[in-house]
Amino acid sequence: MRCIREDWVRRWVTVALVLGLSAIIGLRSPAQGPLAVASGRGGAVASVDTQATQIGIEILRNGGNAVDAAVAAAAALGVVEPFSGGIGGGGFMVIYLHDSDRVITIDGREQAPVSATPNLFVDPDSPTGALLPFAPNRISSGVAVGVPGTPLEWAEALNRYGSLTLGEALAPAIALAETGFTVDATFARQIEQNQDRFSAFTSTQSLYLPNGRPPSVGAVFKNPDLARSYRLLATQGVNAFYRGEIAEAIVQTVQQPPTVASPPFPVVPGRLTLDDLDRYAVRVRPPVVSEYRGYTLYGMGLPSSGGITVSEVLNILSGFDFSSLDPVKVWHSVIEAERLAFADRNAYLGDPEFVDVPLPGLLSQEFAQTRRAEIGDRAPLAGAEVRALAGNPLPYQNDPSPSMTAAVTLGRGSDHESPSTTHLTVADAAGNLVSYTFTIESIGGSGIVVPGYGFLLNNELTDFDPTPPHPNVPEPGKRPRSSMAPTIAVAPDGRMLAFGSPGGSTIITTVIGLIVNQIDLNLPLDQAIAAPRISQRNGGVTQVDSGFETSATGQRLLDLGHVLEPVPEIGAATGIVRNLDGSFVAAAEPQRRGGGAAMTVQP
Ligand code: GLU
Repeated sequence: MRCIREDWVRRWVTVALVLGLSAIIGLRSPAQGPLAVASGRGGAVASVDTQATQIGIEILRNGGNAVDAAVAAAAALGVVEPFSGGIGGGGFMVIYLHDSDRVITIDGREQAPVSATPNLFVDPDSPTGALLPFAPNRISSGVAVGVPGTPLEWAEALNRYGSLTLGEALAPAIALAETGFTVDATFARQIEQNQDRFSAFTSTQSLYLPNGRPPSVGAVFKNPDLARSYRLLATQGVNAFYRGEIAEAIVQTVQQPPTVASPPFPVVPGRLTLDDLDRYAVRVRPPVVSEYRGYTLYGMGLPSSGGITVSEVLNILSGFDFSSLDPVKVWHSVIEAERLAFADRNAYLGDPEFVDVPLPGLLSQEFAQTRRAEIGDRAPLAGAEVRALAGNPLPYQNDPSPSMTAAVTLGRGSDHESPSTTHLTVADAAGNLVSYTFTIESIGGSGIVVPGYGFLLNNELTDFDPTPPHPNVPEPGKRPRSSMAPTIAVAPDGRMLAFGSPGGSTIITTVIGLIVNQIDLNLPLDQAIAAPRISQRNGGVTQVDSGFETSATGQRLLDLGHVLEPVPEIGAATGIVRNLDGSFVAAAEPQRRGGGAAMTVQP
């Protein structure tokens, strides 16, 4: 199992050359609209990138299942979308297994080192114990790096549910990293936006800022060091990463970041050790299950807040009658439900292995009813600083003993939304589905490439709330609370849906938008993905896609007292619908982040 067959890699080098050539001559340029939706049979893949989608399709075409294709496509995204996800980060996978008719989730979230304390982000040079400034100091530090979960998540998914070896699943991405791909505008822009912090590290500078500038759009970009890392994983298995030479390189990089002689800001080293990497384990966890208007939805549980917050919002919304299809009534209710559910999320949710989260209460219909009763006909709040208070779910569960979390009533919580992260959706002909969101946290993660190994380390520990007491404070071996919300749903008629989104805490509101657009407003998946995003996360303002605020619906929401803040990009989502006749509709974002790619095995 833990071997790589060179004939596979050679085969994929040929495929990669064809893919690369197609991209160069414009056949499959990533921003092409028509690639955003596809229907057909035999399996389907939707991702933000044409080559990753194509690789997933080739795996399916060659008899691989949805898990095989998901890992292969994810590894390809690690090559072509290295600023959003990769082996230096973590993620959450929701899998529907057709034969056993069940949904499982795999938690490959990054983990804090055992040296972590609630003071993790206190500035070591501050006489007053002030926190490190969030950017660039906290996000571009060794101290923000958690133990990556992605390599083990891929291996575990394949071991349990795949049919390919890790080496076979990585072969296409190895070929892609070796032969190179065409730099597109998104890739170049993401480097440019991070140029200051990337240039603080010699390894990152030499990979992504050759000649001091991002590579030009249209140039071929190769990453032989990443190909080498993937080969080590392929030949030695995940031990190479968690115990072998890559582990040693990660520890060295975190403890002594490879800074240039005079970095533009002080780079704080971390204290991650070989033992931290050695003890890392992925967790197979049950999904969060919700019922909404006859649909059953399976979401990601803790340490992600994704599935739980989506579920609470849906519980609140289920008491409203949206049959008039009046979008203003719908979105007003969604905004207010999100405001309340985010207050609860921020107050109560954290790594379940460390905090006693009042989940039965939070997810009960009775609690949702009390929250629904707080929603009036108009936006209740004015001004950017006003926030909803957390509710009290403890009376609605069998164990009403107050946990430490009940003291946090203000709904305070870290909320640094960004358009980073990536979501991949895969379905195979046998009916299996994979909904997989993964990340390195910020665009470009910590900004630190592991020298000689070609991948960026995450800065996921910035998802902790740095000010105790809080259920999401850093602790030894704890996983920071996430917002990732990969989702699988079964419609009342038996159709199956899988979808998800990138975007930090906006992931949750994007996924809610996808659900409401499809279930309440009857939009097909591709239109639900393309539709404007509306995101309320218990702030005074509701963020919307630029332009929505001047639409008829936007204007009427303003009339109800909502404060709408236009932002450039929320949630480049992807999804797949499996119809009752076994055909698929796959859809990717048509515009955001340059547009994605959806394909089926047989058109
Ligand atoms: N760290 C974020 C989370 O786990 C994902 C990164 C992002 O999308 O900004 O929710």
